[in-house]
Amino acid sequence: MSEKQASFYASVERNFEKAASHTGLPKGLLEQIKVCNSIYQMNFPVKIGNSYQVIEAYRVQHSHHRLPTKGGIRFSHLVNQDEVMALASLMTYKCALVDVPFGGAKGGVKVSPRAYNEEQLEKITRRYTVELVRKNFIGPGVDVPAPDYGTGSREMAWILDTYQQLNNGELDSAACVTGKPVNQNGIRGRTEATGRGVFYGLKEMLSNEKDCKEMGLKPGIGGKTMVIQGLGNVGSYTGSISIEEGGAKVIAVSEIEGTIVDENGIDINKLIKYRKSKGTIIGFPGTKKTAKREDWVGLKCDILVPAALESQITKANAKKVKAKIIAEAANGPVTADAEEILLKKGVIIVPDMYLNAGGVTVSYFEWLKNLSHVRYGRIEKRFDERAYSNLVNLVEKMTGKKVGQKERDYLTRGADEVDLVRSGLEETMITAYQQIRDIYKRKKKVNDLRTAAFVNAINKVASDYTTLGIFP
Ligand code: GLU
Repeated sequence: MSEKQASFYASVERNFEKAASHTGLPKGLLEQIKVCNSIYQMNFPVKIGNSYQVIEAYRVQHSHHRLPTKGGIRFSHLVNQDEVMALASLMTYKCALVDVPFGGAKGGVKVSPRAYNEEQLEKITRRYTVELVRKNFIGPGVDVPAPDYGTGSREMAWILDTYQQLNNGELDSAACVTGKPVNQNGIRGRTEATGRGVFYGLKEMLSNEKDCKEMGLKPGIGGKTMVIQGLGNVGSYTGSISIEEGGAKVIAVSEIEGTIVDENGIDINKLIKYRKSKGTIIGFPGTKKTAKREDWVGLKCDILVPAALESQITKANAKKVKAKIIAEAANGPVTADAEEILLKKGVIIVPDMYLNAGGVTVSYFEWLKNLSHVRYGRIEKRFDERAYSNLVNLVEKMTGKKVGQKERDYLTRGADEVDLVRSGLEETMITAYQQIRDIYKRKKKVNDLRTAAFVNAINKVASDYTTLGIFP
């Protein structure tokens, strides 16, 4: 296990300890909350071409205070036990923060998806699922995986199909995994959910004029400059939604191949298309390449958005940060060592466990949809439309004026699934931020948002344990 990866779990533990001291909870209870309950490491053979390869994989269930446990599955050649433990722990606190009633878990398969074709990836995913079924590490009420780095709806569809083959006739089997394709029991709005949640979180944080003044910022996300590291699912949607709905300006993007800058703003959707056709972001019209890929860390901007992997801002480069806000779209992008330096510099860090909770929040909505066996909006949409229409008719009658067709369509529209998902997500991100802010403002010794978020999450998990009678 390399030192960098070993430090990720240690970093999460360090942040936990820092917050735990502000909770006043008994030591034993804190210890139970902190530890990973179940760690399953597996090795299985998969036939690739003419030979067999032994694949190393994990599923870690961090906390069972609520069931099922929940968390994504990562496909990466860097996967190791320490990393999966850290990510599973973060899932527990994340779910608690946004009142998603799950325990935390995470899976990892040590493969580089680029090294395999689709058929081989399907074999690996299905075999991994069989291993999970065998050990009772998957099921609608047990443990529910989802996409993470290196996986998406395609892999979730394979997981669902494998689970259903082995659990024929199980009524709620579609809820065994989330992040599925919409036509295979998925939910509209899940793909963009993490990025959209990042946007709602930042928007909420920047909506309070007094708070912004204290941070030395103008209120509102509009006009704020952003630098994004990672053009995967989370980075892409964070960027495009912040531009389209918030009026932010993405002035730089960093990817494996390098970092590009354009002070006038980069069109993320065009950049994604460009990268698809050219295989690189370098050379995108209007942009300049920085000398080194790592230069994204030190670019001057309002909001720095690490949206790739953990441990990207470290003791070694934290001093270079010129941003006012670091928005942790990824899990664990700032190490505990780096955080100390950044807080001294006055940088505001919006913590991962809050800011990227949009994914699991919409996963929760998908799980509920699967259990209820009905699409959101199906029951009330037409009823609402008729009621709004009656209201508009009445206003027209009473005023003697006609409402234009465009306005009428807007006023009388009943909510679709995606409208309800977005509304539920926005509500979740606003409520969770206000809770964290409240602790941050109220507790004099809590001086950063991560500690405030941790305190809130730990208290919620603790209260579940105490109400369960485990720690009277
Ligand atoms: N992998 C995502 C995360 O880190 C989503 C997890 C889920 O939807 O269960 O939060």
